[in-house]
Amino acid sequence: MQQYFTDRKLTVDMEFDMTSEQSHHISTVLRMKDGKTIRLVDSNQSVFLATVHINKNSVRVKVIEPVFESRESKVNITLAVALIKGEHWDWMLQKTAECGVTKIVPFVSSRCVVKDKPDSYSRKIERYKKILLEAAEQSYRHRIPEISEPISFKMLKDFKSDINFIAYEKENSRFLSSVTESFSSATIVIGPEGGFTSDEADYLINHGFTSVSLGKRIFRAETAAVTACIFLDFLGERND
Ligand code: SAH
Repeated sequence: MQQYFTDRKLTVDMEFDMTSEQSHHISTVLRMKDGKTIRLVDSNQSVFLATVHINKNSVRVKVIEPVFESRESKVNITLAVALIKGEHWDWMLQKTAECGVTKIVPFVSSRCVVKDKPDSYSRKIERYKKILLEAAEQSYRHRIPEISEPISFKMLKDFKSDINFIAYEKENSRFLSSVTESFSSATIVIGPEGGFTSDEADYLINHGFTSVSLGKRIFRAETAAVTACIFLDFLGERND
């Protein structure tokens, strides 16, 4: 069943027109038949079933009933990822959204291959938001992950959570999977294709980030980002 997000606060029996983009998707892309049921997630992150009524240029929906479910991660996951090349970046956005990421913070560090100028990034951000929205719809999430403007490496210290990690594939890093503390929010920093310099790792460690290993093998940056989200979501499930 297709899911869409709406800015409205929904109640049973409410009727309204979907946005023009959503109407186009329902009637032209998916060619849905009149009376078909969809899922709607409202401004309170509440889920409802609704039926579609296809008009010529717009799609009207009628809210039928609430759906009581919990699909969001129990932890707020802030994923700080070094900018990585085009298609790998897009893949990372889609997969981490599926895996429950709350917020993505792109950053530039010394071994980044991609050094986006701020203006070229602002043109891309709309596309990135669309990838996150579609992944959130597809995976039945109740909230759309956020993405911020890229920041410099040193600004990472301002994006801390209850618990903070740097994914660093060095022998003395403890395994993320063995963390026993309870937390309701976590930040994890993932390096670029070329990894972190030891100065960068020291900087974060001195600012309260714990170095953690994601496993015995070296992942590509985008795989590391996905793995980190899966671990943090899993650790959050143990919290109560
Ligand atoms: N260090 C390698 C590869 C970097 S992999 C090099 O210098 O070429 C890109 C990023 O993914 C790393 O900076 C790290 O944050 C993360 N990463 C990959 N595998 C990891 C592992 N096993 N444990 C922790 N972090 C890992």
